[in-house]
Amino acid sequence: MSDPTVPLRLMAPTPPRGKPPRHWADLTVPDRLEAVARAGLPSFRAKQIAAHYCHHLSGQPADWTDLSVDHRHRVADLFPELLHWLGDRQCDDGATVKSLYRLFDGELVETVLMRYGLTEQATVGPRGLRSTLCVSSQAGCGMACPFCATGQLGLRRNLSTAEIVEQIRLGARCLADGALPGGPGRLHNVVFMGMGEPLANYRSVLAAIRQTTAPAPAGFGLSARGLTVSTCGLVPAIEKLSQEGLPVTLAVSLHAPDDDLRDRLVPVNRRWPVARLLDAAWGYAQATGRRVSIEYALMRDLNDQPARADHLAELLRARGHWGWFHVNLIPLNRVPGSPWTASRRRDQDAFRRRLEATGVPVTVRDSRGQEIDGACGQLAANWRQTEPDRPGPAEADHPRPDGSVPD
Ligand code: SF4
Repeated sequence: MSDPTVPLRLMAPTPPRGKPPRHWADLTVPDRLEAVARAGLPSFRAKQIAAHYCHHLSGQPADWTDLSVDHRHRVADLFPELLHWLGDRQCDDGATVKSLYRLFDGELVETVLMRYGLTEQATVGPRGLRSTLCVSSQAGCGMACPFCATGQLGLRRNLSTAEIVEQIRLGARCLADGALPGGPGRLHNVVFMGMGEPLANYRSVLAAIRQTTAPAPAGFGLSARGLTVSTCGLVPAIEKLSQEGLPVTLAVSLHAPDDDLRDRLVPVNRRWPVARLLDAAWGYAQATGRRVSIEYALMRDLNDQPARADHLAELLRARGHWGWFHVNLIPLNRVPGSPWTASRRRDQDAFRRRLEATGVPVTVRDSRGQEIDGACGQLAANWRQTEPDRPGPAEADHPRPDGSVPD
């Protein structure tokens, strides 16, 4: 990780279009065996390579000295550089690191790595440390939520499985290398809450989840319970995910309990309104036994009135016992130029108290990274302003405010 005072490196991207190069992390285990055989290596090398990648978190064949130089050369094509690190921004005394990467075609994505428990470390020791990585699933986003920096970029393209997996490997590697305060450690949680709507890139996100949770050497061996997939409300995809047999946490970005307001804040609501979305969320909780996180970004004088807290509690209570959900209030990270801003502290507190008074389990999210282009997509947006000649999104990639969902 870099010194936060060092500016992001200016690189001149040459943006080819098309699919990202095929990578080891795009392949299934049988496909990996086949690829290794095709490269002329004995099959036992596949396990060795997988251990380098998933256990030692190394994506550079040149470093794998237990393979001959010839074998390293032969498998190098399976490990193209998919994420080119451009720079970091750090805050919270280095415990929060936002990283910007350039993809093979010049698109930009962000990750945020956060370490928790540092203040308690003296009493509970290194075991008390927890680490969470927020990853991107798309370059830009087509959901067009007007308060969101990524939404302003439009959808540029879906990320491949390996482009997502590489974000996770690099985050885990930073922790293993001791790049964050607290010393070397491991990654505990991955949240799909970075750039993009994860369920609009369903196949790649699901494959990345399976790889992240598969035991080493096939995957990184994280517990599925440590993974969270957020959605702005793609109901059919929520229903599909509930049948995958994966106990990942679902986070629903609700932001308003009434369709009038939610139609404006989250345009996909025009296709799947609040009632349908909450039914799907409740169904997810029933199918998986996992508590759904209801995300609610508090915006000043827009969605933070006590009456809306009452309405929200009523909708959630109408769908069964209290234990199926948890409300997470989020102080809005303001995007420059956006008319929406965070609620006043007194309104935020009143909203929380109103929910608590009805028995709703509620927390206020610790909004990390406020001073480092904290809102999702903001770092990439600011970077883009330094590169005005970048091509715009392809015609077919423009946002779809009618809520239609790309494949
Ligand atoms: S809030 Fe999420 S779904 Fe909406 S535009 Fe931003 S990234 Fe996309």
